[in-house]
Amino acid sequence: MTQLRSEIVIIGGGISGLAAAYYLEKEARANGLAIHTTVVEKETQLGGKIATQRHDGFVFEGGPESFVTRKPEAWELCHELGLGDRLVGTTSSGKNYVLHNGRPAIVPTGPVSLLSTPLLSAGGKLRLLKEPFVKPRTAASDESLGSFLRRRLGDEMVENIVKPAIGSVYLGDVDGMSVQVSFGRFAEMEQKHGSVVKGMFALMKERSAERKTSGEARPAKKPSFATLQNGLMEMVETLAAQIDGEILLDTAVSSLQHNPTQAQPYTLTLSDGRTLQADVVVLATPTFVSAELLEDVAETAVTDQLHAIPYNPVTTVNVAFNRSEIHDPFDGFGVVVPAAETSRLLAIEGMSVKFPHRAPGDQFVLRAFVGGQADPELAERSDEELIKLVRQELANIFDITAEPTQVHIQRWLPANPQPPIGHLAMITQIERTLAQELPQLYLTGAGLRGQGIPDCIRQSRNLVAQIVTDLQTKTEALA
Ligand SMILES: Cc1cc2nc3c(=O)[nH]c(=O)nc-3n(C[C@H](O)[C@H](O)[C@H](O)COP(=O)(O)OP(=O)(O)OC[C@H]3O[C@@H](n4cnc5c(N)ncnc54)[C@H](O)[C@@H]3O)c2cc1C
Repeated sequence: MTQLRSEIVIIGGGISGLAAAYYLEKEARANGLAIHTTVVEKETQLGGKIATQRHDGFVFEGGPESFVTRKPEAWELCHELGLGDRLVGTTSSGKNYVLHNGRPAIVPTGPVSLLSTPLLSAGGKLRLLKEPFVKPRTAASDESLGSFLRRRLGDEMVENIVKPAIGSVYLGDVDGMSVQVSFGRFAEMEQKHGSVVKGMFALMKERSAERKTSGEARPAKKPSFATLQNGLMEMVETLAAQIDGEILLDTAVSSLQHNPTQAQPYTLTLSDGRTLQADVVVLATPTFVSAELLEDVAETAVTDQLHAIPYNPVTTVNVAFNRSEIHDPFDGFGVVVPAAETSRLLAIEGMSVKFPHRAPGDQFVLRAFVGGQADPELAERSDEELIKLVRQELANIFDITAEPTQVHIQRWLPANPQPPIGHLAMITQIERTLAQELPQLYLTGAGLRGQGIPDCIRQSRNLVAQIVTDLQTKTEALA
């Protein structure tokens, strides 16, 4: 019997949508399934939040600038795409700072720096050292990240160091955010080992024992964070080049209809008036967009819940200077700003310290973050106002008064999801409801189970396994 080809439409050409298309084609080939994919992307370029701008020898990142390698999916995908020799790690020399009384103070990374740090009082340091002896929480239910961290590390450590660091990544408040989504690994360590410190030691012991049993040599040290020589957009461009299906740019899906009596039950109306028929639909869009697209077909409870997932705005401002005009160039990866400080920035990254190859000659690049939950209105200010603000802050913090040689501003209004407490249970329930009412319609993306690039790739990879199983079941039923 000739197998019918399944039409699969993926809405959204960010990393989640592209990874879904890539792995779908790969798994379909491996399993002998006939599929055709179409990625529909609203913007004129792919990548979503991955937004590299290259000009005059600079590689500016308006969104993510690297990915963590401890979660292996992005590292693995780059190797699979043939980009292994294009990967670069962050330099090992950079330190992390927290703004303290208007000046950067190094984040302690060991017992000696902990004893001398001005960021914690003697009481705060003692409280931190007590972590292994703090009783674990017995309930396995979700809690806020703030409550988890305060229980384990004490208030001072959270307020002065952890909260600004997390705020600069998630752009939200630790007290409203689910620990299961943001730091699930640490919550699991507490459940399993009674403490995060004990959990870390147990993990190191486990890894070393595994290596001994398998006779495997200690793996070559991977950098903790990696990126691509020509910016993260290289991953997007290479993925797109390896997708056989169609990619429609500058085309939004404006509505979605479901008619279960039709052979291809989903009809997608596009912004140019065309329609697409599909057997399978993957929504790889921010959750508030998915909510709108599902409005005509899903239960109100589902769309209301997806709509309610908060996102905060952020604007990034890359500023380049002639190094020779800066007296004492910042030597750190970044400075995060606690709420108690007067600075209105969320964080500043030392882009030229992290990735020296991304600026030509003697150019030195810093990147400021503004907005977030703490100051959402700031993210929407005009370019002139933002440049003025950032230059003033750089003068205050680093004494940089030189004229910038380049400025690159990127607004994300809204930017990253802030998964609330109970988020994972809610997403699982939404997926169950959708599986019953809208078979072969799936969700993926940063708003579901983690927003880092590796999290997005992992979710799309897992989803592909589910789609392939569903397609096989359907094919068997028809045979
Ligand atoms: C400033 C910033 C810095 C970050 N830094 C890092 C970092 O250093 N490391 C890291 O791992 N992660 C980082 N992240 C997070 C990470 O970049 C994102 O979570 C991830 O890229 C999101 O990918 P996605 O594909 O799920 O969503 P998106 O990238 O948002 O993609 C969704 C796509 O859907 C499209 N779309 C929307 N509506 C429609 C429609 N109706 N029809 C068709 N298409 C539509 C959009 O245009 C978009 O391209 C950062 C994020 C931001 C904003």
